[in-house]
Amino acid sequence: MFYDEDEEGFGEDRLVKSTKGEYDGEENVLRPKALTDYVGQSKVKENLKVYMSAAKTRGDVLEHVLLYGAPGLGKTTLAHIIAGEMGGQLKLTSAPAIERGGDLAAILTNLNEGDVLFIDEIHRLNHSVEEILYSAMEDYALDIIVGKGPSARNIRFALKKFTLIGATTRAGMIANPLRDRFGIICRLEMYSPAELKEIVLRSAKVLGAEIDDVAAAEISKRSRGTPRIANRLLKRVRDFATINGNATITLDDANYALKQMEIDGLGLDDVDRSLLRAMIEKFDGRPVGLETLAATINEDAGTIEDVYEPYLLQLGFISRTPRGRMILRGGYNHLGYKISEKQKQQLSLFDKDDND
Ligand code: ADP
Repeated sequence: MFYDEDEEGFGEDRLVKSTKGEYDGEENVLRPKALTDYVGQSKVKENLKVYMSAAKTRGDVLEHVLLYGAPGLGKTTLAHIIAGEMGGQLKLTSAPAIERGGDLAAILTNLNEGDVLFIDEIHRLNHSVEEILYSAMEDYALDIIVGKGPSARNIRFALKKFTLIGATTRAGMIANPLRDRFGIICRLEMYSPAELKEIVLRSAKVLGAEIDDVAAAEISKRSRGTPRIANRLLKRVRDFATINGNATITLDDANYALKQMEIDGLGLDDVDRSLLRAMIEKFDGRPVGLETLAATINEDAGTIEDVYEPYLLQLGFISRTPRGRMILRGGYNHLGYKISEKQKQQLSLFDKDDND
């Protein structure tokens, strides 16, 4: 039920695709252990510092925390840091792994005072499991119904005081009663190239790899604002440098490796490009529904929404409109397409909607 974080062999079919379960052994090694080593997210860090030291001063456990943001932005890492700072054990699990109420009950009854339970993809909890979580979060109690029909009785078990950390890529999909039970809600933002460069340099040091400053900057620029991707690109670039017999990773190594991986100057890969191309060639710039788009490029709709779209939205290459996803001027320009008259009409309709 819990992850084995060192588990390998899930395959790294694509560099940007990064769901839980794709852990590679080194990911844990690269995780910063203290809040001071956790790069960026200054607002979140500042607030968490206050909440943690206040709870410690009161001799209390930290309130439940909801972390939301795209995959690879550091939610699991923060959970490790919080557990470390609060002096509790961290138990990691994910909503799809908790199938029945009994599974959750077993996890909860095994927690000790001050432990931190991390539930990844918490928006995917099923309803009966979620109901059990409510009293566990609010009253540190487990309500179990014994028997059936008129003789059914509710039995309440006391739990040790713990902190739940829920992580999600889809804050909008969390039911209100669940969201209301989190005392602390933090949204993780994409990282700037400067922050990612700091992460790349730190990771290179941890891995014992020498890297030029400009090479680190290049990797950061192409990491889609995401530390996990920055670390993966660093490792692959290091592979190319090793094969070429270079002791220090140079800009040439980085450029060569990224070209071999078909990652362009902004960090887009073949899936991003085929998504944009489909919007231009197949749908002629008209708004298109997510499911249709996913089917067209033979990709999972959830993966597009969680992994690919956030960065394309951030770049301003696409937009979410009430009528579907739409490609914008930047998307055409990046792929070198000339915008046709018909496509211009679509864009002006979008500009009009946007200004209304
Ligand atoms: P998430 O749980 O949001 O999918 P993770 O916490 O697993 O992301 O982070 C993925 C990797 O990125 C980790 O191995 C960690 O090394 C690195 N990382 C994430 N956030 C940071 C950060 N703020 N500073 C340094 N490294 C980070």
